[in-house]
Amino acid sequence: MEQKLLKKIDTYKQDVIDLQTHMIACPALSPQEGGKGENQKAVYLLSVLKQMKFDEVSVINVKDPKAEGGIRPNIMAKYYGENKRKTLWVMAHMDVVPAGDLSLWKTDPFKAVVKGDKIYGRGSEDNQQGLVSGLLAVKAMMDLGVRPPCNYALLFNADEEMGSEYGLLSILKNHIHLFGKEDEFLVPDGGIADGTMVEVAEKNMLWAKITVMGKQTHASTPKAGSNANRAAAYLIVTLDEQLHKKFNKKNNLFAPEVSSTFEPTKREANVPNVNTIPGREVLYLDCRILPCYTNKEVLAEIGKIAKQIEKKFNVKIKIEAIINDVSKPTDPAKQVVQLTQSAVRAVYKNKPRIMGVGGGTVGAYLRNVGFPAVVYSKLDETMHQPNEYSSIKNTLGDAKVFALVAMRFK
Ligand SMILES: [Zn+2]
Repeated sequence: MEQKLLKKIDTYKQDVIDLQTHMIACPALSPQEGGKGENQKAVYLLSVLKQMKFDEVSVINVKDPKAEGGIRPNIMAKYYGENKRKTLWVMAHMDVVPAGDLSLWKTDPFKAVVKGDKIYGRGSEDNQQGLVSGLLAVKAMMDLGVRPPCNYALLFNADEEMGSEYGLLSILKNHIHLFGKEDEFLVPDGGIADGTMVEVAEKNMLWAKITVMGKQTHASTPKAGSNANRAAAYLIVTLDEQLHKKFNKKNNLFAPEVSSTFEPTKREANVPNVNTIPGREVLYLDCRILPCYTNKEVLAEIGKIAKQIEKKFNVKIKIEAIINDVSKPTDPAKQVVQLTQSAVRAVYKNKPRIMGVGGGTVGAYLRNVGFPAVVYSKLDETMHQPNEYSSIKNTLGDAKVFALVAMRFK
């Protein structure tokens, strides 16, 4: 039966093109980005889902007065398995990011152009490739009249690109009863070109904004002020040394960055002229912290170091966590992880690796409320770029991976 499913999926090339063409023509941009939201795209997808043999299709509308129709739609479609109490979910997002600089596009970003194996258009890869793969996996089961051991369900979310407030976070907060305790998730919204990354963990993310306040004065009379720039420079160097030394544990799941990372990144402009000693410096630290440490511990250490610098340079230092996200890992022994790894090996004949990444996918939201979640796709990683495209071969390959996982998920 598995072989029949895989063969069936090979016949869906035109379906990939049709689905992508319709979706690329619906610019599902967030109202915060000047768009209308996902409504038009959701209406199209619902028409597709209703023609298929799903046992349940429902929409969760999250109110957003700025969006078309005043709502941000989230769609769920379930195909029953033999055991109806347990579900394998494939979750993708409908919203896309803006096209960006149009002069960098060779084609209209909101009109699909097919060239060989590639379909060009905004959203084609992020996240329509995953959405289409999830859809075609279940289409094959339906076309062959096969039921998986457990339910197979699709969840198409709104608002992933802008933080999921009108999407997954709202569903987890207000409709968590829609999920069963034993449900597991596949999230086809991240991957690498050779398709070997099976992502199960993310580092905790901490973005610190650090404001150093001294006293501005003329550069010829430094004793009359206190130089915030010098204090900030010492602070960065000290943080760099001390944080790496204190939080030095390694975890090979996160190769190649096996340790926590602490990177000084943005620095705001200070004074416009050379002969003024700045009285204020604002700098930022991007920390990706292994799950064995807490963000709180790191913040406390940053605070301790800041105190030393305050004393030494006669400045005041304010520390704010502008991003403070914690991410629990999924146990690699979980079914969805093991099944994804073996299905990838079977479909692509490669060596898939269970891995952790630096952080930043919606997988973290699922893991934090206790659901096992795997982030997997085979992607050329053109998302958010001009001339974004999706590979038809990868779309069908990933559909095969999901179909195999579904047929083996018990
Ligand atoms: Zn995405």
